[in-house]
Amino acid sequence: MTSKTPIKVKPVTSCILCGYRGQNLYSHLKDSLFGVPGFWSISSCKNCALLWLDPQPLEEDTSLLYSNYYTHEGLTNNFLTSSEVSFENFPKNKKIKYAVLVAYFKYPIMVPRVYYFVGVILGAIPSFRKKVELSIGGFLPKKGARLLDLGCGNGDYLLEMKYLGFDVEGIEIDPQSAEIARSNGIPVITGTLTKNTYKENSFDAVYLNNVIEHLANPEEIMSICHTILKKGGRLCIKTCSSKSFARSLFQESYRGLEIPRHFFIFSPESLRQLGKRVGFSVKKSFTTFNGYIWSASKAIKKGDKNAAYATDNRFIFLFQKIVVSSLIFLFPDRGDDIFVLFEK
Ligand SMILES: [Zn+2]
Repeated sequence: MTSKTPIKVKPVTSCILCGYRGQNLYSHLKDSLFGVPGFWSISSCKNCALLWLDPQPLEEDTSLLYSNYYTHEGLTNNFLTSSEVSFENFPKNKKIKYAVLVAYFKYPIMVPRVYYFVGVILGAIPSFRKKVELSIGGFLPKKGARLLDLGCGNGDYLLEMKYLGFDVEGIEIDPQSAEIARSNGIPVITGTLTKNTYKENSFDAVYLNNVIEHLANPEEIMSICHTILKKGGRLCIKTCSSKSFARSLFQESYRGLEIPRHFFIFSPESLRQLGKRVGFSVKKSFTTFNGYIWSASKAIKKGDKNAAYATDNRFIFLFQKIVVSSLIFLFPDRGDDIFVLFEK
Protein backbone atom coordinates (compact mmCIF):
# COMPACT_ATOMS: atom_id res chain seq x y z
CA MET A 1 0.00 0.00 0.00
CA THR A 2 1.28 3.43 -0.91
CA SER A 3 -0.04 4.78 2.39
CA LYS A 4 2.61 2.76 4.29
CA THR A 5 5.52 3.84 2.09
CA PRO A 6 7.93 6.04 4.08
CA ILE A 7 8.13 9.55 2.63
CA LYS A 8 11.57 10.79 1.56
CA VAL A 9 12.27 14.14 3.19
CA LYS A 10 14.72 17.04 3.43
CA PRO A 11 15.28 19.41 6.38
CA VAL A 12 14.22 23.06 6.10
CA THR A 13 16.11 24.83 8.84
CA SER A 14 15.65 28.53 8.00
CA CYS A 15 12.78 30.87 7.15
CA ILE A 16 12.42 31.10 3.36
CA LEU A 17 11.31 34.72 3.68
CA CYS A 18 13.88 36.31 5.97
CA GLY A 19 16.55 33.65 6.58
CA TYR A 20 16.08 33.49 10.37
CA ARG A 21 16.80 30.09 11.85
CA GLY A 22 13.52 28.31 12.61
CA GLN A 23 12.43 27.63 16.18
CA ASN A 24 10.76 24.34 16.88
CA LEU A 25 7.09 25.01 17.65
CA TYR A 26 5.48 21.54 17.60
CA SER A 27 7.13 18.15 17.21
CA HIS A 28 6.21 14.47 16.93
CA LEU A 29 3.09 15.30 14.92
CA LYS A 30 1.23 12.70 12.87
CA ASP A 31 -1.14 13.00 9.90
CA SER A 32 -4.42 12.76 11.82
CA LEU A 33 -6.54 13.32 8.70
CA PHE A 34 -5.38 11.00 5.92
CA GLY A 35 -2.85 8.65 7.55
CA VAL A 36 0.37 9.51 5.71
CA PRO A 37 3.15 7.76 7.72
CA GLY A 38 5.90 9.52 9.63
CA PHE A 39 6.45 12.01 12.42
CA TRP A 40 6.68 15.68 11.58
CA SER A 41 7.61 19.00 13.18
CA ILE A 42 6.52 22.57 12.67
CA SER A 43 9.08 25.37 12.85
CA SER A 44 8.32 29.04 13.22
CA CYS A 45 10.08 32.28 12.36
CA LYS A 46 10.23 34.71 15.26
CA ASN A 47 10.69 37.55 12.81
CA CYS A 48 7.82 37.11 10.32
CA ALA A 49 5.45 34.53 11.95
CA LEU A 50 5.81 32.10 9.04
CA LEU A 51 5.30 28.46 10.06
CA TRP A 52 6.68 25.58 8.05
CA LEU A 53 6.80 21.84 7.98
CA ASP A 54 10.24 20.48 8.86
CA PRO A 55 11.38 18.15 7.41
CA GLN A 56 9.53 18.55 4.11
CA PRO A 57 8.75 15.76 1.63
CA LEU A 58 10.85 15.59 -1.53
CA GLU A 59 9.06 16.58 -4.73
CA GLU A 60 9.29 13.02 -6.11
CA ASP A 61 7.19 11.80 -3.15
CA THR A 62 4.51 14.52 -3.26
CA SER A 63 1.90 12.20 -4.76
CA LEU A 64 2.18 9.87 -1.72
CA LEU A 65 0.84 12.70 0.45
CA TYR A 66 -2.43 12.71 -1.46
CA SER A 67 -3.08 8.99 -2.00
CA ASN A 68 -5.94 8.96 0.57
CA TYR A 69 -6.91 12.63 0.18
CA TYR A 70 -10.49 13.89 -0.25
CA THR A 71 -12.35 11.96 -2.91
CA HIS A 72 -13.18 14.07 -5.92
CA GLU A 73 -16.00 16.37 -5.01
CA GLY A 74 -18.90 17.06 -7.35
CA LEU A 75 -19.48 20.38 -9.07
CA THR A 76 -21.47 22.92 -7.09
CA ASN A 77 -21.94 25.00 -10.23
CA ASN A 78 -23.43 22.21 -12.35
CA PHE A 79 -26.41 24.47 -13.15
CA LEU A 80 -23.96 26.22 -15.51
CA THR A 81 -23.02 23.10 -17.47
CA SER A 82 -26.18 22.62 -19.53
CA SER A 83 -26.20 23.88 -23.10
CA GLU A 84 -29.01 26.32 -22.27
CA VAL A 85 -28.06 28.17 -19.11
CA SER A 86 -31.10 29.89 -17.64
CA PHE A 87 -31.22 32.22 -14.62
CA GLU A 88 -34.56 30.69 -13.61
CA ASN A 89 -32.87 27.34 -13.00
CA PHE A 90 -30.12 28.73 -10.77
CA PRO A 91 -30.17 27.93 -7.02
CA LYS A 92 -31.48 30.87 -4.98
CA ASN A 93 -28.13 31.63 -3.29
CA LYS A 94 -26.50 31.96 -6.72
CA LYS A 95 -29.28 34.23 -8.01
CA ILE A 96 -28.68 36.55 -5.05
CA LYS A 97 -24.90 36.40 -5.48
CA TYR A 98 -25.10 37.32 -9.17
CA ALA A 99 -27.56 40.11 -8.37
CA VAL A 100 -25.02 41.62 -5.93
CA LEU A 101 -22.27 41.28 -8.57
CA VAL A 102 -24.40 43.18 -11.06
CA ALA A 103 -25.59 45.85 -8.61
CA TYR A 104 -22.26 46.59 -6.92
CA PHE A 105 -19.50 45.31 -9.18
CA LYS A 106 -21.13 45.99 -12.62
CA TYR A 107 -20.81 42.41 -13.86
CA PRO A 108 -22.22 42.20 -17.40
CA ILE A 109 -24.85 39.50 -16.90
CA MET A 110 -28.64 39.73 -17.09
CA VAL A 111 -30.58 39.43 -13.84
CA PRO A 112 -34.36 39.91 -13.55
CA ARG A 113 -35.33 43.33 -12.14
CA VAL A 114 -36.72 41.90 -8.90
CA TYR A 115 -33.39 40.18 -8.19
CA TYR A 116 -31.51 43.34 -9.06
CA PHE A 117 -33.32 45.11 -6.19
CA VAL A 118 -32.64 42.17 -3.87
CA GLY A 119 -28.96 42.55 -4.83
CA VAL A 120 -29.02 46.30 -4.10
CA ILE A 121 -30.53 45.72 -0.65
CA LEU A 122 -28.43 42.71 0.47
CA GLY A 123 -25.23 44.12 -1.06
CA ALA A 124 -25.65 47.20 1.14
CA ILE A 125 -24.57 44.97 4.07
CA PRO A 126 -20.75 45.28 3.98
CA SER A 127 -20.05 41.75 5.30
CA PHE A 128 -22.37 40.18 2.72
CA ARG A 129 -20.89 42.23 -0.12
CA LYS A 130 -17.40 41.17 1.02
CA LYS A 131 -18.45 37.51 1.08
CA VAL A 132 -19.64 37.77 -2.52
CA GLU A 133 -16.49 39.60 -3.58
CA LEU A 134 -14.33 36.98 -1.87
CA SER A 135 -16.14 34.09 -3.56
CA ILE A 136 -15.07 35.30 -7.02
CA GLY A 137 -11.51 36.26 -6.02
CA GLY A 138 -12.18 40.00 -5.95
CA PHE A 139 -11.68 40.34 -9.70
CA LEU A 140 -13.49 43.15 -11.49
CA PRO A 141 -15.33 42.48 -14.74
CA LYS A 142 -13.46 43.19 -17.97
CA LYS A 143 -14.59 41.97 -21.37
CA GLY A 144 -12.58 38.92 -22.45
CA ALA A 145 -10.18 39.19 -19.50
CA ARG A 146 -7.95 36.12 -19.34
CA LEU A 147 -8.11 34.30 -15.98
CA LEU A 148 -5.92 31.42 -14.77
CA ASP A 149 -6.89 29.22 -11.81
CA LEU A 150 -3.78 27.52 -10.48
CA GLY A 151 -4.90 24.25 -8.87
CA CYS A 152 -8.32 24.49 -10.51
CA GLY A 153 -9.58 21.07 -9.36
CA ASN A 154 -12.73 20.06 -11.24
CA GLY A 155 -13.10 23.56 -12.70
CA ASP A 156 -16.00 24.62 -10.49
CA TYR A 157 -14.71 28.16 -9.97
CA LEU A 158 -13.72 28.62 -13.61
CA LEU A 159 -17.14 27.49 -14.79
CA GLU A 160 -18.67 30.33 -12.80
CA MET A 161 -16.08 32.88 -13.96
CA LYS A 162 -16.69 31.86 -17.57
CA TYR A 163 -20.38 32.61 -17.06
CA LEU A 164 -19.33 35.98 -15.57
CA GLY A 165 -17.51 36.88 -18.80
CA PHE A 166 -13.92 35.76 -18.24
CA ASP A 167 -11.78 33.87 -20.74
CA VAL A 168 -10.79 31.03 -18.37
CA GLU A 169 -7.97 28.46 -18.13
CA GLY A 170 -6.72 26.13 -15.42
CA ILE A 171 -3.76 24.07 -14.27
CA GLU A 172 -4.35 20.98 -12.15
CA ILE A 173 -1.91 18.37 -10.91
CA ASP A 174 -4.57 15.66 -10.46
CA PRO A 175 -5.42 14.12 -13.89
CA GLN A 176 -8.88 12.94 -12.80
CA SER A 177 -10.00 16.41 -11.65
CA ALA A 178 -8.47 18.02 -14.75
CA GLU A 179 -10.49 15.65 -16.94
CA ILE A 180 -13.76 16.62 -15.21
CA ALA A 181 -12.97 20.29 -15.88
CA ARG A 182 -12.18 19.58 -19.55
CA SER A 183 -15.41 17.61 -19.96
CA ASN A 184 -17.20 20.83 -18.94
CA GLY A 185 -15.43 22.89 -21.58
CA ILE A 186 -12.68 24.38 -19.40
CA PRO A 187 -9.18 24.29 -20.97
CA VAL A 188 -6.87 22.71 -18.39
CA ILE A 189 -3.18 21.78 -18.41
CA THR A 190 -2.42 18.74 -16.26
CA GLY A 191 0.75 19.41 -14.26
CA THR A 192 2.45 22.22 -12.37
CA LEU A 193 3.23 25.83 -13.27
CA THR A 194 6.74 26.48 -14.59
CA LYS A 195 8.19 29.60 -16.14
CA ASN A 196 7.69 28.13 -19.61
CA THR A 197 4.02 27.13 -19.21
CA TYR A 198 2.60 30.48 -20.36
CA LYS A 199 3.81 33.60 -22.17
CA GLU A 200 4.87 36.69 -20.24
CA ASN A 201 2.28 39.46 -19.79
CA SER A 202 -0.59 37.29 -20.99
CA PHE A 203 -3.13 37.10 -18.12
CA ASP A 204 -5.40 39.68 -16.49
CA ALA A 205 -6.03 37.59 -13.37
CA VAL A 206 -4.52 34.61 -11.54
CA TYR A 207 -6.30 32.78 -8.71
CA LEU A 208 -4.72 30.58 -6.02
CA ASN A 209 -7.35 29.26 -3.63
CA ASN A 210 -5.93 27.08 -0.83
CA VAL A 211 -2.92 26.25 -2.97
CA ILE A 212 0.07 28.33 -1.81
CA GLU A 213 0.34 26.47 1.51
CA HIS A 214 0.84 23.17 -0.40
CA LEU A 215 3.77 24.46 -2.47
CA ALA A 216 7.42 23.71 -1.75
CA ASN A 217 8.46 26.86 -3.66
CA PRO A 218 5.86 29.60 -2.99
CA GLU A 219 8.19 32.46 -3.90
CA GLU A 220 9.06 30.95 -7.28
CA ILE A 221 5.39 30.32 -8.11
CA MET A 222 4.37 33.85 -7.09
CA SER A 223 7.21 35.22 -9.18
CA ILE A 224 5.98 33.24 -12.23
CA CYS A 225 2.46 34.58 -11.56
CA HIS A 226 3.92 38.08 -11.65
CA THR A 227 5.67 37.35 -14.95
CA ILE A 228 2.61 35.92 -16.73
CA LEU A 229 0.30 38.74 -15.56
CA LYS A 230 -0.13 41.87 -17.65
CA LYS A 231 0.66 45.24 -16.10
CA GLY A 232 -2.30 46.04 -13.85
CA GLY A 233 -3.23 42.33 -13.70
CA ARG A 234 -4.28 40.87 -10.36
CA LEU A 235 -3.31 37.86 -8.30
CA CYS A 236 -5.76 36.61 -5.65
CA ILE A 237 -4.41 34.36 -2.90
CA LYS A 238 -6.56 32.67 -0.27
CA THR A 239 -4.90 30.56 2.43
CA CYS A 240 -5.07 29.61 6.11
CA SER A 241 -3.29 31.78 8.69
CA SER A 242 -0.56 31.26 11.26
CA LYS A 243 -1.90 34.29 13.16
CA SER A 244 -5.51 33.11 13.46
CA PHE A 245 -7.28 32.85 16.79
CA ALA A 246 -7.95 29.18 15.96
CA ARG A 247 -4.23 28.47 15.63
CA SER A 248 -3.53 30.19 18.96
CA LEU A 249 -6.30 28.23 20.66
CA PHE A 250 -5.87 24.75 19.15
CA GLN A 251 -2.06 24.83 18.75
CA GLU A 252 -0.90 21.44 17.37
CA SER A 253 -4.52 20.39 16.76
CA TYR A 254 -5.13 23.39 14.47
CA ARG A 255 -6.71 22.13 11.23
CA GLY A 256 -4.64 24.50 9.10
CA LEU A 257 -1.42 22.60 9.89
CA GLU A 258 -2.67 19.75 7.62
CA ILE A 259 0.38 17.61 8.45
CA PRO A 260 2.27 16.85 6.13
CA ARG A 261 0.51 18.47 3.15
CA HIS A 262 0.84 22.13 4.19
CA PHE A 263 4.48 23.11 3.71
CA PHE A 264 4.14 26.81 4.62
CA ILE A 265 1.55 28.60 6.74
CA PHE A 266 1.71 32.34 6.24
CA SER A 267 0.62 35.22 8.41
CA PRO A 268 -1.21 37.97 6.50
CA GLU A 269 1.88 40.17 6.82
CA SER A 270 4.35 37.49 5.64
CA LEU A 271 2.17 36.80 2.58
CA ARG A 272 1.94 40.51 1.76
CA GLN A 273 5.72 40.81 2.14
CA LEU A 274 6.35 37.87 -0.18
CA GLY A 275 4.08 39.42 -2.83
CA LYS A 276 5.90 42.74 -2.57
CA ARG A 277 9.25 40.99 -2.84
CA VAL A 278 8.34 39.49 -6.24
CA GLY A 279 7.08 42.86 -7.50
CA PHE A 280 3.38 43.12 -6.58
CA SER A 281 1.58 45.89 -4.76
CA VAL A 282 -1.20 45.00 -2.29
CA LYS A 283 -4.66 46.15 -3.39
CA LYS A 284 -6.73 44.46 -0.69
CA SER A 285 -5.98 42.33 2.33
CA PHE A 286 -8.32 40.96 4.94
CA THR A 287 -9.07 37.82 6.94
CA THR A 288 -12.39 36.03 7.43
CA PHE A 289 -14.08 33.46 9.66
CA ASN A 290 -14.02 29.83 8.51
CA GLY A 291 -16.36 27.62 10.53
CA TYR A 292 -14.88 24.41 9.14
CA ILE A 293 -11.44 25.24 10.60
CA TRP A 294 -13.08 25.43 14.06
CA SER A 295 -15.12 22.24 13.80
CA ALA A 296 -12.23 20.23 12.31
CA SER A 297 -9.70 21.56 14.85
CA LYS A 298 -12.01 20.52 17.72
CA ALA A 299 -12.38 17.06 16.14
CA ILE A 300 -8.60 16.67 15.74
CA LYS A 301 -8.12 17.63 19.39
CA LYS A 302 -10.64 14.96 20.42
CA GLY A 303 -8.87 12.36 18.27
CA ASP A 304 -11.87 11.92 15.95
CA LYS A 305 -10.95 9.54 13.09
CA ASN A 306 -13.17 11.48 10.66
CA ALA A 307 -11.88 14.92 11.64
CA ALA A 308 -11.33 15.85 7.98
CA TYR A 309 -15.12 15.82 7.48
CA ALA A 310 -16.15 17.36 10.82
CA THR A 311 -19.13 19.70 11.00
CA ASP A 312 -20.76 21.55 13.88
CA ASN A 313 -24.48 21.77 14.45
CA ARG A 314 -26.11 24.96 13.25
CA PHE A 315 -26.38 26.56 16.69
CA ILE A 316 -22.71 26.06 17.58
CA PHE A 317 -21.66 27.20 14.10
CA LEU A 318 -23.66 30.40 14.43
CA PHE A 319 -22.41 31.09 17.96
CA GLN A 320 -18.78 30.66 16.83
CA LYS A 321 -19.38 32.77 13.77
CA ILE A 322 -20.72 35.69 15.83
CA VAL A 323 -17.96 35.50 18.47
CA VAL A 324 -15.04 34.96 16.07
CA SER A 325 -16.30 37.49 13.51
CA SER A 326 -16.58 40.11 16.28
CA LEU A 327 -12.99 39.37 17.34
CA ILE A 328 -11.84 39.65 13.71
CA PHE A 329 -13.59 43.01 13.50
CA LEU A 330 -11.41 44.16 16.42
CA PHE A 331 -8.24 42.36 15.24
CA PRO A 332 -8.47 42.32 11.42
CA ASP A 333 -5.34 40.22 10.80
CA ARG A 334 -6.39 37.34 13.07
CA GLY A 335 -9.15 35.64 11.08
CA ASP A 336 -9.05 32.05 9.82
CA ASP A 337 -8.65 32.62 6.09
CA ILE A 338 -6.28 35.17 4.56
CA PHE A 339 -7.41 36.94 1.39
CA VAL A 340 -4.87 39.11 -0.41
CA LEU A 341 -5.41 40.75 -3.78
CA PHE A 342 -2.13 41.76 -5.38
CA GLU A 343 -1.62 43.94 -8.45
CA LYS A 344 1.27 43.94 -10.91
ZN1 LIG B 1 10.81 34.83 8.60
